[in-house]
Amino acid sequence: MSAIDYQAIFNEIINDLDEIDEVGEVATYIPELANVDPNKLGMHLTTVTNQHFAYGDADEAFSIQSIAKVWSLTLALKHLGADTWQRVGVEPSGTAFNSLVQLEYEMGIPRNPFINAGAIVVCDILVSCLKNPKEDLLDFIRTSSGIPSIEYCPVIAESEVKTGHRNYALAHMMKGFGNIHNDVDCVLDLYFSLCSIKLTCKQLAQAFLFLGAGGVNPATQQQVITPKRTKRINSIMQMCGFYDEAGEFAFKVGLPGKSGVGGGIVAVHPGKYCIAVFSPRLNASGNSVKAMKVLEALTSKTELSIF
Ligand code: GLN
Repeated sequence: MSAIDYQAIFNEIINDLDEIDEVGEVATYIPELANVDPNKLGMHLTTVTNQHFAYGDADEAFSIQSIAKVWSLTLALKHLGADTWQRVGVEPSGTAFNSLVQLEYEMGIPRNPFINAGAIVVCDILVSCLKNPKEDLLDFIRTSSGIPSIEYCPVIAESEVKTGHRNYALAHMMKGFGNIHNDVDCVLDLYFSLCSIKLTCKQLAQAFLFLGAGGVNPATQQQVITPKRTKRINSIMQMCGFYDEAGEFAFKVGLPGKSGVGGGIVAVHPGKYCIAVFSPRLNASGNSVKAMKVLEALTSKTELSIF
C-alpha cells in the first residue's frame, strides 16, 4: 500500500474550511487565555515512522491546558497502578469539564481522570507518590516526550489560581468526601502548573506519539508505559477526552483524543500517527470548533479511523 499524502489532504481540508464561518469564542474564564489571537490555525501530524506533515501555525506555542492531563494519568498509573481506579472512575461523565453536580451524588469519586475533578484527584495521587511533585512531574513530561525544554508557565498558572473558584470548590468537596488526601492548595498548585504548559502542535504530536506506538516514544525509543496501559489510556481518551462531547467526537472523528480550553486537540491513530491541531475558538463544551472539523475531515478523507 502506498504511503498516504497527508500534506495533500491538509491542503484539501484547508480549502474546504475557508468556506466555513469563524464560529466559537476563545476561553475568557482564564484571563491569560483571552489574549490569544482567535484566528490562529496550526496542525502537525507525525507518523510512527517519523514522517512529518504540517500546516499554518504549527510552530506557535499555545497553552495546552487539559491535554496535559494525559501525562498526569500516565504517571499516576506508573506509580499507583490499578489502585488508581479506587479513586477515580473510567466512565464518560456526560457533563461539562468543570461540573460539580455529579460529584456530590457520586460521593466525591469523579467519573474519569479527564474531567477537572478527576484530574485533581490524579494530582493528589501524584502529590502522595512523588518526592518533589512539581519537579518530578515536569521531569517525567520532559523525558517521556523527548523535549527537555518544556516548562510550566507561571503567568498562566497564576491567572488560573485567581479565577479557579470552581476547581477549589471541586477539590474541597472531594476533600470533604475523603478523596483528597493532601492540602488542597498544594494539590491545585500542581494541577494549575500542569495545565499551564505551552507547546507547539509539532511538539505535541511528538509528545503523545507513544500512545500510537504501543507505549514507546519513537523519537527517543523510550518505553514510556506498557502496551496494556497504553490501551487503557487510549480508551479513556476515546470515551472521556471531550467531556459532554465525547460521543460527538467518537462519532465524527473516530480516534482517541484529548482537548484543552487553549484550543488544542491531540488525536492518536494507533499504529499510524499522532496529530495536534490548534484553533482557539471553542464551542459551548470547551472544545475547539475548527480542530474538531479538521480531524473529522482527516478521517473522512483518508477513510481511516479506529472503527
Ligand atoms: N485548566 C483548565 C481548568 O481547570 C482546564 C480545562 C480544560 O482544558 N478543559 O478549567
